Amino acid sequence: MIDLHTHTTESDGTFTPEELLSAAEEAGLAALAITDHDTFRGYDAAAAMGAGAVRLYCGIELSTRLHEPSLANGKSVHLLAYFLEQPAPPEFRDWLDDLNASRRDRNRRMAARLRELGLELTLEEAEALGKSVTGRPHFARLLVTKGYVRSIREAFDLYLDESAKGYVARDEPTTQEAIRRVVDAGGIASLAHPVRLGRRDLADEQQLIASLVDSGLTAIEAYHTDHNEERVAFYLDLANQLGVPVTGGSDFHGAHKPGVALGDARVPDEVLARLLG
Ligand code: AMP
Ligand code: FE
Ligand code: FE
Ligand code: ZN
Repeated sequence: MIDLHTHTTESDGTFTPEELLSAAEEAGLAALAITDHDTFRGYDAAAAMGAGAVRLYCGIELSTRLHEPSLANGKSVHLLAYFLEQPAPPEFRDWLDDLNASRRDRNRRMAARLRELGLELTLEEAEALGKSVTGRPHFARLLVTKGYVRSIREAFDLYLDESAKGYVARDEPTTQEAIRRVVDAGGIASLAHPVRLGRRDLADEQQLIASLVDSGLTAIEAYHTDHNEERVAFYLDLANQLGVPVTGGSDFHGAHKPGVALGDARVPDEVLARLLG
């Protein structure tokens, strides 16, 4: 079994890269990809620890915005990128630095916005809860710690969700641009947990995924803990029709997703074999 979708403390997971590697070994995984949000730091740290029993692969989960001509502000879409056989080139890492600068700018404005709403907090306090990538989940935890809300859920519902009063948008690359960047950098671009695209029906979703494949998308995440068996079968079939390989993983976040364990997406080893070609 393998797991190609996991997070460490460098983004919004609760396991350090080292803890994640040990957990993967304990779970008996043959291969593990670390796919932190918008950063390679978790992977870099794990890679520096040297080879154990688990084959470690480089990945990342990019936050993008779907560009749809009919909408002013498209849906948020997560794009997985994998650099399985050669590292991501310096230009790609530079682009990530730009994305993180724009994220930090958004975070500063979001802290100010939350203060306007009467919540006493600072950007630095939120950043202290994160490592390289501070995002809304860290703000949510801060609001819980300070007693302004009872749960992460309430923090999003009242303040941080896109529809809530504390939300501040940030400059995100379009899904199409991110696909192009990944492919130009020699990576595999896979659509993360497509079930969350939230299209009105399967035909509509199928059409959207086909158009992303036309834009250069190279894989679909068929196996994911949000996908029931029918969904997995649907994406396996769709990928087959579109002539692209599939990827899969648990989306492990440690204690932040208590119901999800490493290996939970039950991804067969053949998935990796096909990606490696
Ligand atoms: P950011 O990239 O900082 O805007 O934060 C996005 C992350 O916040 C997503 O990857 C989710 O993990 C989390 N998130 C977004 N919306 C919600 C929500 N309504 N409830 C819980 N978590 C959310
Ligand atoms: Fe996450
Ligand atoms: Fe995601
Ligand atoms: Zn994820």
